[in-house]
Amino acid sequence: MDQFHGVGVTPGRVVGRVRQMPAPVSEPGVGSGLGAGASVEGEGERIRAASRAVQSALKARAAAASGDARGVLEATALMAADPVLVKGAVRLLDPGADGGGRSAERAVWESGAAVAAKLKSLGGYMAERAADVLDVRARIVAELRGLPAPGIPESVEPFVLAAHDLAPADTATLDPGRVIALITSGGGPQSHTAILARSLGLPAVVAAPGVEGIPDGTEVYVDGAAGTVQTGPGQPERDAAAAWAVAAAALAGGFAGANRLADGHPVPLLANVATGADAAKAAAAGAEGVGLLRTEFCFLDRDTEPSHAEQVAAYTAVFAQFPGKKVVIRTLDAGADKPLPFLTNTEEPNPALGVRGYRTDWTSPGVLARQLAAIAQAAAQSEAEVWVMAPMIATTEEAAHFTALAKDAGLPTAGVMVEVPSAALTSGHILARTDFASLGTNDLTQYAMAADRMLGPLAHLNDPWQPAVLHLIKATCDGAAAATAATGTPKPVGVCGEAAADPALAAVLVGLGVTTLSMSPRALTAVNRVLATITLHQAQTLAEAALTAPDAHTARTGARSHLPILNELGL
Ligand code: PEP
Ligand code: MG
Repeated sequence: MDQFHGVGVTPGRVVGRVRQMPAPVSEPGVGSGLGAGASVEGEGERIRAASRAVQSALKARAAAASGDARGVLEATALMAADPVLVKGAVRLLDPGADGGGRSAERAVWESGAAVAAKLKSLGGYMAERAADVLDVRARIVAELRGLPAPGIPESVEPFVLAAHDLAPADTATLDPGRVIALITSGGGPQSHTAILARSLGLPAVVAAPGVEGIPDGTEVYVDGAAGTVQTGPGQPERDAAAAWAVAAAALAGGFAGANRLADGHPVPLLANVATGADAAKAAAAGAEGVGLLRTEFCFLDRDTEPSHAEQVAAYTAVFAQFPGKKVVIRTLDAGADKPLPFLTNTEEPNPALGVRGYRTDWTSPGVLARQLAAIAQAAAQSEAEVWVMAPMIATTEEAAHFTALAKDAGLPTAGVMVEVPSAALTSGHILARTDFASLGTNDLTQYAMAADRMLGPLAHLNDPWQPAVLHLIKATCDGAAAATAATGTPKPVGVCGEAAADPALAAVLVGLGVTTLSMSPRALTAVNRVLATITLHQAQTLAEAALTAPDAHTARTGARSHLPILNELGL
């Protein structure tokens, strides 16, 4: 029996067999030529056979899939046998073609690159297909090498997916019906893997060194609350997994709006979303509004700024799901882990400390004002109560400038994210100049602890239970209370970082003075059920104890020991 320790990001206990994520397909060497004994005809046939094999594998997957995924897989299967791609590759094998023959792998690589470049140059829908061609190319090269296809492994049996870390692109193809847990050796609690796991409600353990070495097919027990992975599970682990399955079914029901503490004190529970489809799911899960609409989705993978009309359509799709309800939309947060070719400089030595979020207005003036104009138009044509906020605000001047820009655009409620410690410590002045604050605890934690949120080895520092982070949250709420008293206008403080999705921490946040919590829709029921068991006074007592704890572990275990409901719900 081996045990691996990491950071648990989503609670849940399961037993299942491991499937390892194959390594990404590496670029074949240039100038390797046809290779000794290989003929143009023979290699050409190998390329055709590989493309046919990839096509039939994709067709089989399409047949087993449904909805959007089926259409996407069918289209990709067609692309695998695309004559331009295959003939182009075969032509490149010939030493006479352009002065130098290529290996079959290299020929497919270059031909795929040429087709993708052509599609990109056509723009619009065609340009979006370029990524699919590159995916097909990688599959054909893997087939030629006799390696498993890249991406999430195929399996009829549900399995535990093990990887170093998952990229955003992998997450699109992850089928939660097949993958029952995620375990990674890299990544932190705020990594893409962690965010995906929370949004799918999958038990997950990240930053657990060694799990990428567990052989395929090994049976493991994953405890997403404890952050452990164990091989060779026995009866106690199987019983724990069975008990969790019952508890999870009870939590899957969603909650029907209007979250209240045991004393009736309202704490609206909102959702974090990125697209209209997300917003529809959030509304169905009972979210009382949207606390964070990440607008990067509209900009990512783009070489140019999306047009006014495109932006209006994308934002309207979200607003339309919440008529009469609050939707807090965040302006573009490009930079750091979300680079944008036309806006951010990828050469920066420390991108998380660089021109990121609101700061891109200094280097690319106009993009923010145009985005605000699009948001204002979408807001005007919808019934949602639209609030707008800027990411990465560090000073009062920035808060005042952003608020003025938003109001000039015709948006009446403008606020800022508090994710830089300087903003937390000066929130009284900041909130005197803006309408509300939303704590981005993912970044606030990485900046308070000087620990890159994407790095697995620093995961224990990237923990919002760190008392230093709790003190910054308290400072923000105290500043808001002072600004409320000084201006005579309420200055609400929400939390939209992943911390809000941890039911025990949610209780502490409420005790610290936070007025709304925004999270992945999956977490709404658990947070609602736990908050319903405590009064505001009890939440304040929990918060006091957490603030005075000497370390994150003591803060967490102390709060959890006063919330017996967590055990009842298997959280
Ligand atoms: C945060 O930093 O907590 C946040 C909500 O923003 P993002 O995760 O998009 O940086
Ligand atoms: Mg952030």
